[in-house]
Amino acid sequence: MPQRPFNFSAGPATMPEAVLSQAAAEMLDWHASGMSVMEMSHRGPEFMQIAAEAQADLRALLAIPPHFQVLFMQGGGIAENAIVPLNLSRGAAADFVITGSWTIKSHAEAQRYCQARVAASNVQAGDPPGHRFIPDAATWQLSDDAAYVHICSNETIDGLEFPALPDLVALGSKAPLVVDFSSHVASRSVDWSRVGLAFGGAQKNLGPAGLTLVVVREDLLGHALPICPSAFNYQTVAKNDSMYNTPPTWAIYIAGLVFKWLLAQREGDGATAVQGLAALERRNMAKAQLLYGAIDQSGLYVNHVHPQHRSRMNVPFFLRDERLNAPFLAGARAAGLLQLKGHKSVGGMRASLYNALPLSGVQTLVSYLSEFERVNG
Ligand SMILES: *Cc1c(COP(=O)(O)O)cnc(C)c1O
Repeated sequence: MPQRPFNFSAGPATMPEAVLSQAAAEMLDWHASGMSVMEMSHRGPEFMQIAAEAQADLRALLAIPPHFQVLFMQGGGIAENAIVPLNLSRGAAADFVITGSWTIKSHAEAQRYCQARVAASNVQAGDPPGHRFIPDAATWQLSDDAAYVHICSNETIDGLEFPALPDLVALGSKAPLVVDFSSHVASRSVDWSRVGLAFGGAQKNLGPAGLTLVVVREDLLGHALPICPSAFNYQTVAKNDSMYNTPPTWAIYIAGLVFKWLLAQREGDGATAVQGLAALERRNMAKAQLLYGAIDQSGLYVNHVHPQHRSRMNVPFFLRDERLNAPFLAGARAAGLLQLKGHKSVGGMRASLYNALPLSGVQTLVSYLSEFERVNG
């Protein structure tokens, strides 16, 4: 089979080719069951095994401690913007740290269910447009009565990533930290001691659209508002092993194959070799470094994010001459580099470098950038 093009989509996004091949081979008959996974009862032994393995593998991959529940839900990150305040706010206040397009959305949605405050923002009068840095945690205005503090640890559209999760206890807050990690989950390790709840849609780094991952500390369950739909009540979902309603069985199966693929990834040789999440993190850092380096040393391309807050997963960049955007994208497609167009709200280009995008994809992109600049710069 000829090599498939490299796919830089922000999501739904590129998948490991080995996973697609395995799913194709198992499509008509999963493990001699006589059924496609799509055709199985979610309560039958075959699918129960698939779901249990997916959960166990994810727990191992992300080193999720036992006092956290892993929930497989639906509705995506956008639904969680409502489901989190419905479950955690108790109708009181919550603090939001505004770092880009996704936290603006989360804050606006939460206002329907609680008093959503802004503890910090990188949008200030007089600033250049766009989101360019993460406000220093020491300056956050955290409220004493907040039921939780919401951050987005990787802003997919604007290309900002927290270098580390904030330590709310050290900042004098008792509130649990809620993290939208949709677009960089499983790309790096998570310090669970700082987290109350983390959520993410699967379609960036975990698998197909339709599955939403929620990892929630057990003591945060059981406080949902009476208006919270039962299917979105974390306690109800947890008590029923994520099978209160029919779960997105196909998406869980494919994500489960991705988890096995992620666990098996290795980087380095001999005694310095690392596996699983450590391997992914090392590879993702190398990929991001290569691309940002190429952008920074060019005269045609520019990225505006503060170097310490640049996302390893989503790299927005602009051509200094916007008239070159269309030929740039056409040439990229011809070179086997797909879906580089930036989000419609910010324009320009965006290269998403998720786990399933190999280093060779970034090397090919960097060669294309330099060749396009040589001809057009
Ligand atoms: C993609 C994304 C979402 C929204 O996901 P949906 O599945 O469309 O609801 C939310 N937050 C972040 C950070 C995202 O990248």
